[in-house]
Amino acid sequence: MHLFVSDVHLDPAAPQIAAQFLQFLETTAGGAQALYILGDLFEAWVGDDDRGAGKEQVCQALRSLGRRGVACFALHGNRDFLLGAGFSERSGCRLLPDPVVAQLDGEAVLLTHGDALCTDDHAYQELRSIVRDPAWQRRFLSLPLTHRERLADEARAGSRRHTARAIPTIMDVNPAAVTAAFRATGVRRMIHGHTHRPALHQLSVADAPAERLVLGAWYEQGSYISCEAGRYRMHQLPR
Ligand code: MN
Repeated sequence: MHLFVSDVHLDPAAPQIAAQFLQFLETTAGGAQALYILGDLFEAWVGDDDRGAGKEQVCQALRSLGRRGVACFALHGNRDFLLGAGFSERSGCRLLPDPVVAQLDGEAVLLTHGDALCTDDHAYQELRSIVRDPAWQRRFLSLPLTHRERLADEARAGSRRHTARAIPTIMDVNPAAVTAAFRATGVRRMIHGHTHRPALHQLSVADAPAERLVLGAWYEQGSYISCEAGRYRMHQLPR
């Protein structure tokens, strides 16, 4: 069984989310062959030198899951795009590029966080291209930790203002970007998060059926997708 989660948004201000996610790692994930975290595991990650207690606890839980034989993979989200080699070492999670095509039960499946598909949000895409630049990241990571944390808080406040103002459809994926991703990779299935709109979308790409599975965020309840022998199911974990 393969498991997928996204947008857990672990935050010291919301300990109930961490508790539920740790429980999920202990129980459900323990029986999996692999766990794919499709971005935004953390509400904020300003560098691998952040050793806050909550972050350390989750890294250790992932590490022990890996020791129990569950392969753990993580993609960058728009909140935790600075996860680096230090995170990999601490958590045992292998960082994958975004997007990535994984072979799952003999099928090529496109995995992505999903923010790159939201091409109608021009302001966000502009910001994304800035902060994903390695030179920008080097400069940012050279700042003291407390300074980086303050900047991240300011960025989150700016993002909340932007989200509140923007037209809802702008915050969703762009259909042409989705089609382009299917065509570029030749897959018939993709899994992503980011939009916080859990759903299973059946579509047609190049006159053949394709499926887009969207993971939910963990703000109100848990959300994950399982794949067992090529069969995909969406799950909600009431809190
Ligand atoms: Mn996101």
